[in-house]
Amino acid sequence: MKKFFALVLALLMVVSLAACGGAEKTATANEEKPELVMGTNAAFPPYEFVDDNGEIVGIDAEIAKAVADKLGMKLTIKDMEFDSLLTAVQSGAVDIVFAGLTVNEERKQSVDFSITYATGVQVVIVPEDSKIKTVDDLEGKMIGVQAGTTGDIYCTDDYGQDNVKQFNNGALAVAALQNGQVDCVVIDNEPAKSFVEANDGLKILDTEYVTEDYAAAISKDNKELTDKVNKAMEELKADGTIDEILAKYIKAE
Ligand code: GLN
Repeated sequence: MKKFFALVLALLMVVSLAACGGAEKTATANEEKPELVMGTNAAFPPYEFVDDNGEIVGIDAEIAKAVADKLGMKLTIKDMEFDSLLTAVQSGAVDIVFAGLTVNEERKQSVDFSITYATGVQVVIVPEDSKIKTVDDLEGKMIGVQAGTTGDIYCTDDYGQDNVKQFNNGALAVAALQNGQVDCVVIDNEPAKSFVEANDGLKILDTEYVTEDYAAAISKDNKELTDKVNKAMEELKADGTIDEILAKYIKAE
């Protein structure tokens, strides 16, 4: 019986020690910076991609980090499919989306946009020997796009749904182009350049399809964050930080 009590006592001590440890941990956690959770689709170089160390890097990751630093927050990045990003920010699963995201009227109905920080151009990638010479030649062709992107929306409007094949990201669309499943890929110009560089036998058409502006998206219920992010971004624009980040990843033509 004595042994039994000794055991119970020992157990109680272990449990209370563990509880103390736990309390300590919570106290440290409370002193930590608040989190800024960013959603993105890390298959969109040079805006966001996974580097050799398995880390998500790129223009958006660096701008978001600079914004978080200014706000005294700790940046966490969540990688997800492009077409679930806006739902994620609306539901609060993420606080902000940085994803080479184009500002448009339809999206403005569901989210708020920050000030813009870059320009994107929808371009067409084709095999080097393709008969497609201009955007007008896309009629009746099979076009690969990233699901839910503006490229997807324009192509579906202009060439019809039957001529558009959706992929979860640009890399998959380009792979489909390489194996002949689609005749071309419509995607933003900077990722297009990265994909053409990384894959033999592809080129970008000289004719541009649509020019657009990129901004971050924040929930309509979080005006306070939108204001703070905008202020931070204004400062980062004014002091040249955003230009520096863009120049680091985008080579001048
Ligand atoms: N700029 C395009 C859009 O917003 C594509 C963005 C992306 O694929 N990450 O729809």
